[in-house]
Formats: sequence, structure tokens, C-alpha cells
Amino acid sequence: MEILDSRGRPTIRVNVMLDSGVTGSAAVPSGASRGRLEAHELRDGDLKRYLGQGVLKAVDHVRNEIAVDLIGRDAREQPAIDQRLIELDGTPDKSRLGANAILGVSMAVARAAAVESGVPLYRNLASSSRRIIPMPMFNVLNGGLHARSSAFDFQEFMLVPVGAPNFAEALRYAAETFQALGNLLAALGHSTAVGDEGGFAPRMMGGNEAACETIVRAIEKAGYRPGVDLAIALDPAASGFRVDGHYRLHRSGDRLLDTAGMIELFERWIQRFPIVSIEDGLAEDDWDGFAAMTRRLGDRIQIVGDDNFVTNPSLIQRGIDQKSANAALIKLNQIGTVTETIDAVRLCQSAGWRTVVSHRSGETEDAFIADFAVGVAAGQIKSGALSRSERLAKYNRLLEIERELGDAAEFVNPYR
Ligand code: PGA
Ligand code: ZN
Repeated sequence: MEILDSRGRPTIRVNVMLDSGVTGSAAVPSGASRGRLEAHELRDGDLKRYLGQGVLKAVDHVRNEIAVDLIGRDAREQPAIDQRLIELDGTPDKSRLGANAILGVSMAVARAAAVESGVPLYRNLASSSRRIIPMPMFNVLNGGLHARSSAFDFQEFMLVPVGAPNFAEALRYAAETFQALGNLLAALGHSTAVGDEGGFAPRMMGGNEAACETIVRAIEKAGYRPGVDLAIALDPAASGFRVDGHYRLHRSGDRLLDTAGMIELFERWIQRFPIVSIEDGLAEDDWDGFAAMTRRLGDRIQIVGDDNFVTNPSLIQRGIDQKSANAALIKLNQIGTVTETIDAVRLCQSAGWRTVVSHRSGETEDAFIADFAVGVAAGQIKSGALSRSERLAKYNRLLEIERELGDAAEFVNPYR
């Protein structure tokens, strides 16, 4: 069925019922700052409904073509089901049936199979016996395409509770710091309205640099030690401000930087701020730049590729070959099936790369990625700020998983 996401735009929810009567349901998220090579999200284009954003065609594909083909198959055979969905679609980017239709089915099948087997979803997705609760990255200041009126060209400024002993404490450290950040902004006379991922989106002077400074102050105000208890991660989402082969930081004094200039900026920041990870510091087509940045900074911080790899095993393989990064962002809807997403994670793990399972800026109340991150032992997750229930749903689910696992749960600082 067609439902609405956190931006009030249509997306798809799929319900699967097995012979036993067991059901599984899943909802598909939607990005705003997308990689060019992501799997295709099918939208109706009918301007009389939801400004063309409706997903009734995708819904129709699920109800008819996909349902007819899948009825009678075994829900426990996720790889075979996903392979069948890929064949049925027949295009390289899942554009005929729609990656949103295909992923909704794939995730709902995974859920139904877990219920049928009587185990939690993370256990049914598990590829290892280790139960690693991911280190969270909380996007507390929003910019770029997620907060057009904010002062930040960079899309995401995240808090990482690297010193927390477990997930519950990590959540508390970050939530207290988020409150402190809000109070600090209010005291300085800035807006505390939030962007698409629940982080503050003020129009403060000083742009990107001031964002890092303010986060450090908030960490201290909350009674924590910057770099020891809580660190910073960035997702500039640099494809969003790439202009004619340069990077245009127009909200922060309209500077035009080339690739080397961006890398120098990051190097200066790493010395000044407790930054542990930079995602999409350069644009998706700047493959040489990514390799240069990894050579220069990759032994000091995590370099994550998102728009350039789009959770696609063949692009990740290219990145591994070219030493473009040392980590990949993992988004189910960039590639379009659960099995291919697991393959992408395994490929990273076998190359010694780290992985960060991620929400999208358009989300739903579905917390699938929480279970997914634990199941595949991803090590890290990002799901937005400490506000808005579509963001907290994932963190709250991780609290639940950690509690359920008890002593079997591991929580490790991935940057050590
Ligand atoms: P998106 O952004 O979900 O809007 O594409 C998230 C990201 O760039 O990580
Ligand atoms: Zn990103």
C-alpha cells in the first residue's frame, strides 16, 4: 500500500502473508541527496496526485506481477527470492518494477521468515555468531539538502559516543549533549527548528566551522570530554555543492575549493576538532580525489563512501581496488534487495573495510535497519538526531536488542 514518509511524501509498505498465517510487513525509506547510480525509485509522475510523487505503480507491481510470481515460494529462502525479484524486473537498476517495490517485498519476506522461525529479525539475518550492537552516529546539525535555510553547506554534523561502555549509555551521552546543544543555540539567539533528520538547522554565522565549534562546546556543557566520551563525524555530501569540477561552499563565505583544497580543509579540521569519520567529503565522481584523501587521512580517520558506492558490490569492489576509502555506507534502498545489501557488507568486511548502516532522510517508523545492523555485524549505524520518532524508532529498537541479548551483546569503539 501507499503510505507517507517523514517528509509527508508517498512511499510503499508491503505486507507478506505465509501459509501459516504469519505476516511480515516493511516500509521503504527515500533519500533526497542521492547517488546517481542508486537503484531506481519508481514514482507515478501523475501531477494530479502528490506532485507526481505517488507510488501507485510500484504498489500495483507488488500486488500483481510480484505477488503472482512469489506465491508458493519458501520465505526462508531469501537469496532465491531476491534473485527471482531481480530476474523478474530484468533491468540493471530495478527501474521496471521499481527498487521501492522490490525492496519492500524483500524486507517483508525477511520479516515474515523471522516470525515463522520464531526468532528476532536480527538473528534470522545473522551471518556471524557475534552480536555487535553498532556504534551510533547522531546527526545533530543538519545542512545541505536536508535543511536548505541552515548556515551549513555540509549536510551532516554527527555526534559519536566513542567512550560509552554500551549502547544504552551511548544513547544517553548523545541525548544529553543534543539537549545541551539546543540550549546553547537558544542562548545564542539561534533557531532550534530541526531539519529532515531531526538535527538543528540554525542560520548561525561562521557556517561549517562554527558547527564543529558549537558541537564541541555542547559536549563540554553536557559534562563530557570531547574526543574521549563523544567525537564528531561529518557527512558533507559533497556531490551537493560540486560545481564545474570545484566545491562551492556558498553558505560559508562563498569559497571555491578544488579537491586538494577540500582535503587540506579536512586535515586542518582533524587537528582542531575531535573528528573520527568523514563520509562523502568529496563528490561521487571524484574517484581520484577519494583515493588521494584516503592516502592523506585514511590512517587517522574513517573515510566513508556513500554516493560513490551506493551499496553496490561492483562499485565497492572498484573502491577497494583503487583504495578510495576505508569504509562504506550501507543503505538497503540504494541497491534494492536484502541479499545484495548483505553481499555489500560482506565484501567490505572481507576487505577489512568498516561499514555504517544508514537510514534515509525520508524515513518511516520501520526500524528494519536496527535489526539489519546487528544481524550483519555492521559495527556502526546512523539514523539521524535524538529527535523525531522515525529516527528514534531505530535507536529504541537497538536498546531493546541490547537488553534482550544481555551479556551476549558486544559494543565496541570501531575507531580504536
Ligand atoms: P539522503 O541522505 O537519505 O537524503 O540521500 C543521506 C546521506 O547522504 O547519507
Ligand atoms: Zn551520505
